[in-house]
Amino acid sequence: MKGLIFSVKRYAIHDGPGIRVTFFMKGCPLDCWWCHNPEGKATGQVTTERIDRVGEREFRSEELVGMEYTPEEVLAKVERDRVFMEHSGGGVTFSGGEPLMQPLFLTESLSLLRSAGFHTTVDTSGYAAPDVMRSVMQYTNLFLYDIKLLDPDAHRKFTGVDNRLIISNLDLLLEGGAEVILRIPVIPGVTADREFMEQLRLFIESRRGRRISGISLLPYHKTGISKYRRFGLPDRMESYSQISNGHLDDYMAILQPLGIHVKKGG
Ligand code: SF4
Repeated sequence: MKGLIFSVKRYAIHDGPGIRVTFFMKGCPLDCWWCHNPEGKATGQVTTERIDRVGEREFRSEELVGMEYTPEEVLAKVERDRVFMEHSGGGVTFSGGEPLMQPLFLTESLSLLRSAGFHTTVDTSGYAAPDVMRSVMQYTNLFLYDIKLLDPDAHRKFTGVDNRLIISNLDLLLEGGAEVILRIPVIPGVTADREFMEQLRLFIESRRGRRISGISLLPYHKTGISKYRRFGLPDRMESYSQISNGHLDDYMAILQPLGIHVKKGG
């Protein structure tokens, strides 16, 4: 069995001292306007036209996006960094795209990694069949779980899908005892307002007592735009601005009474 991965990076992805090896998996059922990894959305290998600009000149070339790995190859790649991970308290993260779109490969890879003693994290949109969530949960130490919007209509508008499955899967994980860090994109004109943050506080408060160990506020930034230009894709966020640090501090203050660690960034 093989999985399709579009990038492998070695860095710290969430709070804590650990070095993490992160596998970015191809395919995503969502279509978020602000996606920073548009090259990862399609499920198969794709050949994309790459456009590089130097001054006024434009250079076009073809780029193949997507590398095949078996779970054993994932383990072998991670083993090379074992010494760093063990000394830093790090581990392995599967991100995307949406890793749960390749459930057999993901479950087998997680199972091998856990048997070899690695800490495992899955970074997910939560949009997957509940059975997939259950099988992945057995081998996952930590979920980084996106809550993008609470209103189903707005969620459908900005991501292409309804959020009811995402919320019920979050509850499935929490009721099953999984540890979860919630990740919230903070986007002016979409989620960057006090009313949304107040609703979010109530949403999290109603799940008090579960293992929500952190909240990451992810300020929208324009760094992904270069990829849209590079791959010749339309940028639906052109008219949206970035958020100021002062506003982000206000939103953190709304969530801090929950008594859960709130931080800026992933
Ligand atoms: S869920 Fe993540 S990877 Fe998928 S479209 Fe949204 S931002 Fe991109």
